[in-house]
Amino acid sequence: ATKVNHHYIDADIILNYYKPVAKHAHKGTQGHAVIIGGSYGKIGAVCLSAKAALKSGCGLITAYIPQCGYDILQSSFPEAMVLTSGLEHIDTIHFEFEPRAIGLGPGLGQHAYTQKEIGDFLSKNKIPLVIDADALNILSQNKEWLKLPPENTILTPHPKELERLMGSWNDDFDKLEKMKAFSRENDIILVSKDACTMIVHNDKVYVNSTGNAGLATGGSGDVLTGIITGLLAQGYKPIDAAIFGVYLHGLSADIGVKETSRQAFIASDILKYMGRAYLEID
Ligand code: AMP
Ligand code: MG
Repeated sequence: ATKVNHHYIDADIILNYYKPVAKHAHKGTQGHAVIIGGSYGKIGAVCLSAKAALKSGCGLITAYIPQCGYDILQSSFPEAMVLTSGLEHIDTIHFEFEPRAIGLGPGLGQHAYTQKEIGDFLSKNKIPLVIDADALNILSQNKEWLKLPPENTILTPHPKELERLMGSWNDDFDKLEKMKAFSRENDIILVSKDACTMIVHNDKVYVNSTGNAGLATGGSGDVLTGIITGLLAQGYKPIDAAIFGVYLHGLSADIGVKETSRQAFIASDILKYMGRAYLEID
């Protein structure tokens, strides 16, 4: 009975999830995404994530970072808009516009002020959300906040972050049952990142077929967060954004390592080969 709820996401199936760009699209209709994150020494995480969001096809991107990252971001990523709050870590989260999607966590750090502000933000926010990295670690330390995000918020933990969130597991079967329960109880979509990434939504499990060990490199998770946030901003439903985003991220790496080797492949290369990945799907 559980078997029918497992779906393998390959080159044929992914076409059911892909949304081509409308002929008369403009940057307003393509959606505005915000990536909230960064702290002193970790501005690159937001830079990678925000670039990934824009390269996924959304129309506008705002990076919401502490002041110490302002020049770094503006000069390394001219297409982005930048908002700042706090000096070396984010201490308030507030914007005057309504983005279509928010990615929260890359390079964020876990400063006490940041933690408190994340709690306030989560209790007010109704915009479609991706939660990653230190924002997940903050959630792990304040488990009552897991009930706050909107339904179908996407969480993207790597194995360690997953363990902090839902506790350890005995074996793969136990892990899967725990992930399903965690998704159901918190009304969230769980992207369990690993060599074989699985997307768990209530009792449904989607197994990704792309990606390789070239992705075992700092920043590759930040890129995934950006891609999924950018897809949400374009109007992909949360489950579709998670499935398509994981597939596109892995496919980009599969194309990239053929030219760079697994060893020399770095997170910026995921961005570099995203266009080739889109062309292969389209
Ligand atoms: P993070 O640990 O947050 O930087 O995320 C790492 C990203 O790279 C996730 O999307 C993983 O699924 C992916 N990744 C890491 N190692 C591998 C691997 N050996 N094979 C395939 N994907 C990987
Ligand atoms: Mg990460």
